[in-house]
Amino acid sequence: MLNTHLIMEQIRYHPIVATISIAVGTVLASEVIWKVVQYFRSKREKANRVHEVVVFNELGEICAAQHLWNTRPGSQEPEAAHCRNTHCTLRNVGKIAEQIDRAVYSIDLAIYTFTSFSLADALKRALQRDVSIRIISDGEMVFSSGSQITMLARLGVPVRVPITTYMMHNKFCIIDGVERVEEIRQLRKRKWMRPCYSIAVSGSVNWTRQGLGGNWENCIITADEKLTAMFQAEFNRMWKAFEKTEASLIQPK
Ligand SMILES: [Zn+2]
Repeated sequence: MLNTHLIMEQIRYHPIVATISIAVGTVLASEVIWKVVQYFRSKREKANRVHEVVVFNELGEICAAQHLWNTRPGSQEPEAAHCRNTHCTLRNVGKIAEQIDRAVYSIDLAIYTFTSFSLADALKRALQRDVSIRIISDGEMVFSSGSQITMLARLGVPVRVPITTYMMHNKFCIIDGVERVEEIRQLRKRKWMRPCYSIAVSGSVNWTRQGLGGNWENCIITADEKLTAMFQAEFNRMWKAFEKTEASLIQPK
């Protein structure tokens, strides 16, 4: 048992002990305050993370002409970002692009068909930021007309497909998945990584003009840690299973 009375006596009559006690107390108190601030900051930051269902339907294109009219040639400004039409195709595609734009380390995409220029542009921006991108697609659809996957492959993005008559019909994307970020940390021999968190984008919608602006489709964007980990695990499993196709599939031109 600590004799608190004796300790207090020591502090009161010995200036050095008193000084050390005050210093230790200050350090401990500041550490506790810092931990408390960090805890509430992380709680608030987690609460603000995205959990959203984006729908695509017949109302998505009613403002398209207005956006076309308002967009200046060469403008990088996302004209539809504040569109009042909550079903706006451009605005909703912008929401997916926004998540791609916040990728710090990795983007793993499993997609049946991909012809969207704006999402391909977002992936190109990610490549310029040195984000590691991997794509799994369908063996037939990867070569479909307007496929952005072949374009990305020519830029060095590794692409794998299953060799089968069944379809690789998934449409999901994991951004900064925990398991993948750890893999990249080990590959790059880094001791620490910049703060980031995982996002999964998944639903019925293919990343095509028709899927994103015409069909009735849905897409969930979520930062749920369990869901993102499950999607990452399935991507990793497929990536390994389709290993043989990568070298032979698309040769850079
Ligand atoms: Zn709009």
